[in-house]
Amino acid sequence: MSKPRTIAIDGPAASGKSTLARRLARALHYLYFDTGVLYRAVTWAALQRGLSPADEDAMTRLAETLDIQVRPPSQDDGRSNDVWVDGRDVTWAVRAPEVDAWVSVVAAHPGVRRALVDVQRRIGRQGRVVMVGRDIGTVILPDADLKIYLDASTEERARRRYHEARQRGEAVDYASILAALQERDRLDASRAVAPLRPAADAVVIHSDGLDADAVFRRVMDLIRRRNSAPAEPVP
Ligand code: C5P
Repeated sequence: MSKPRTIAIDGPAASGKSTLARRLARALHYLYFDTGVLYRAVTWAALQRGLSPADEDAMTRLAETLDIQVRPPSQDDGRSNDVWVDGRDVTWAVRAPEVDAWVSVVAAHPGVRRALVDVQRRIGRQGRVVMVGRDIGTVILPDADLKIYLDASTEERARRRYHEARQRGEAVDYASILAALQERDRLDASRAVAPLRPAADAVVIHSDGLDADAVFRRVMDLIRRRNSAPAEPVP
């Protein structure tokens, strides 16, 4: 098998997916695409316009019509990409706690997901891409050459988010971060369409006790091993 053309990375919030995907994309010279920003952009626009995130028709119309642009980073402020909505740079605005609180409600609407499938598949099918989300290996790119499901305990993930926020100088408390993550995971895993779960052929990595370097090395090893493995005999 040659180098995987498409790599799908799924898993719950704050499991380290973006860090892993960015590093893989850099090492392989692939495009990094974080699909969560699409759902975040729709949620941000809904809140701006005073629309109810629970209103499926309104959210579907918004997802179908919103002009969302994901472009290479224009600033060196820690962003991996620029996210523009309706001509405004919303790269950081889509990470606000209000968006965190509503995004899983918006993402659960089948109409919203339908509206965002094509753009994701188009990017995925170009190949040489590391795509991150919740349903990439199961729905968006079921034929991805390599599927990773990155998991960690909720407590570990909340601890990581807490320390990241503290490092940015934000006043946060661990208990609210933990509660918000638990609620988002519950909504993402229990929705009827494209729920969060590992694809049958995904490699599941539990990252409790593993730092970002160790996870990255494990996946690069996997890619190298698959690269050099002889073709499997046909039974
Ligand atoms: O990955 P991120 O935390 O930015 O994703 C925000 C939310 O977007 C997730 O909690 C989930 O509700 C939704 N999402 C999704 N499918 C994806 C990516 C994100 O439903 N492929």
